[in-house]
Amino acid sequence: MLDEEREAVVEHAPDLAALTPGRTGNLSVRRGDRFAATPTGVPYDTFDAEDVPVLDLEGERLAGEMAPTSEVPMHTHIYRRKRPGAIVHTHSPWATTLSILGEPLPPIHYMIVAVGKRVPVAEYAPYGTEALAENVVAAMDEADASAAIIANHGLVVTGEDLQSAVENTVNVENLARVYCQARAFGEPNALPEEELETAIEQFDSYGQQPEDGH
Ligand code: ZN
Repeated sequence: MLDEEREAVVEHAPDLAALTPGRTGNLSVRRGDRFAATPTGVPYDTFDAEDVPVLDLEGERLAGEMAPTSEVPMHTHIYRRKRPGAIVHTHSPWATTLSILGEPLPPIHYMIVAVGKRVPVAEYAPYGTEALAENVVAAMDEADASAAIIANHGLVVTGEDLQSAVENTVNVENLARVYCQARAFGEPNALPEEELETAIEQFDSYGQQPEDGH
């Protein structure tokens, strides 16, 4: 069941460790009304595809020996409401810095349009709860974004597949970093709306991401 998706989870789980030291964060990839997700409580390089839990969109485990991430409600809510192909959740340090300030990531660079015109902040609720899942979807909806900072917690980012969700996450984390750095030295300039629209048109003609070198 979902063999390719479970292999993708094994392949990309170490990307979580690259984003944040330790065992924080989780990811999943969907096919139809099922998804494969990282297991909870194990290092990201110590499980095989057959261990990877497969769940339905109500959060019921259908296959896999290991228990899924404690953030299953966030994944099921986002899949049911927004139907992305994959989801990455991390406590990466620069996005989490903004989460602690309770500030969205403004459009300080054209690369932001990979996930929207800004990255909003979802209101805090305890981790793993339906309330947090609702807050994340509400923030994404309100900002028309495919990513959200979670107040005093971290970041959640979606993509059409796991590769693009990871790339989008690395992208947002990098933008959060340069934004925080710019704030340390002065007042950052945001791009105007018309330039964001132009960047969106350019992205559309290149596909999901601009080619290397742009
Ligand atoms: Zn978390």
